[in-house]
Amino acid sequence: MNNKKLVALTFDDGPSNITEKVLDILEENNIAGSFFLIGNLVTEDKKSILERQLTLGCEICNHSYTHSDMSKMSAEEIKEEISKTSAVIKEMVGVDTKFFRPPYILVSDTMYENIDLPFICGADSIDWNPETSAQDRINEVLKKVSDGSLVLMHDLYNNDKTLEALPVIIEKLKEQGYEFATASQIFEQKGINPNVKNKLWSNVFD
Ligand SMILES: [Zn+2]
Repeated sequence: MNNKKLVALTFDDGPSNITEKVLDILEENNIAGSFFLIGNLVTEDKKSILERQLTLGCEICNHSYTHSDMSKMSAEEIKEEISKTSAVIKEMVGVDTKFFRPPYILVSDTMYENIDLPFICGADSIDWNPETSAQDRINEVLKKVSDGSLVLMHDLYNNDKTLEALPVIIEKLKEQGYEFATASQIFEQKGINPNVKNKLWSNVFD
């Protein structure tokens, strides 16, 4: 097991017009993160973004196809949300999605029964709310983070305040002795199996 302090930076709701800028920041800092993509945004014009994510060692994960409240869906609808997203990503860049983040972090027993991927939540930066200032995004992460945390941020369309917050978050976490990994790497390096039934992970030690 890896005794270093590890944290994963994870990003939801892309690909978008800011994803490349997030990747620029990660690349400057030599960090690979995990991106939870919305399937219906994965269109041919976004292919180069997905390719760049993989080139930089980032991980591509599943954030549903339509970003709806899946806790109200039937088993069939749930399976379709997941399989369509996995398929469009597989077809475009040839990788299998390894983790799932529920839209709005809303879950149901039917979802747990029908989605064959580990469910990820995370230390929420509250950056999905346009009212949250860049400084508050930084504060939320620093307040909530600990060894093994999966930090939840958003490469949401026009989410410029996260572009402002991200370099500071990285700098502060480095100062506190954290190293960065993808979600897969963090489970692997800490020796923890993410495939646990009915579990929503925010930290691999939870
Ligand atoms: Zn989302």
